[in-house]
Amino acid sequence: MNRNSETEATVLALKQVGEQNRLVTLFTPKDGVITAVLYGGPKSKLRAMVSPYHRGRIWLYTDTVRNSCKISDFDVQNFRPGIRESLFKTWAASLCAELVIKTYARGESTYKLVQGFLDGLDIAQEQQARLGLLRFLWRYQCELGLQYNTATCIQCGALLSGFSPEEQAVPLQSGGGFICPDCCKAGGTDAALMNSVSIEGILYLQAIENASPQEVRLLRISQSTFSSLQGFLLERTNKAADTRLKTLETANLGLFL
Ligand SMILES: [Zn+2]
Repeated sequence: MNRNSETEATVLALKQVGEQNRLVTLFTPKDGVITAVLYGGPKSKLRAMVSPYHRGRIWLYTDTVRNSCKISDFDVQNFRPGIRESLFKTWAASLCAELVIKTYARGESTYKLVQGFLDGLDIAQEQQARLGLLRFLWRYQCELGLQYNTATCIQCGALLSGFSPEEQAVPLQSGGGFICPDCCKAGGTDAALMNSVSIEGILYLQAIENASPQEVRLLRISQSTFSSLQGFLLERTNKAADTRLKTLETANLGLFL
């Protein structure tokens, strides 16, 4: 049976198939990640509309016998032109898209989280966008249900907020929590040699979970805390995707991170 349907969707990725056509990966609130074929040559108006990170209403035609789905129309409501204005923003958006695809994201709350991140990238200054990426990656971990104890030491139960901000805690390799500065010293571990995160960074993660997005946007962290959080979050993100993310492998570390 063939059918026409329409849905809200965000374009995540395009792949050329044959000379004229493209295979389009879409993210939708109800069905998660789906693919559809876009027919038409370079002069087709629809082809200009179906471009990465554009969000709007899409009309699809599904042929169940041939097991194919094609795009018949796309009414773009948000073009997000700002994402293409900076190499970092373009890279961050493609990291987001790859993460969504590789984790088979679905559900309205994940859809909303991704929309919020892409909208923020579109309008934010680059420096804010870099911090915005860290917040997105942490919220995405929470969305995947990868719970992390950011309140207390996983070994002795001490409150992490009781240490001074520049002291270092070490994340457990298996995930789940941090080892406090005192336990690191007692165990003869030099936190500075590990992929440690400063207490300031852990409190920032706590704030991302507990405070409103408006409140968290106002918080500032030191450059060294930013770097340690970035290392920690990119590693966790790779683990969550269960495979090395291509976007992270191709990152020119100096330019993007
Ligand atoms: Zn401890």
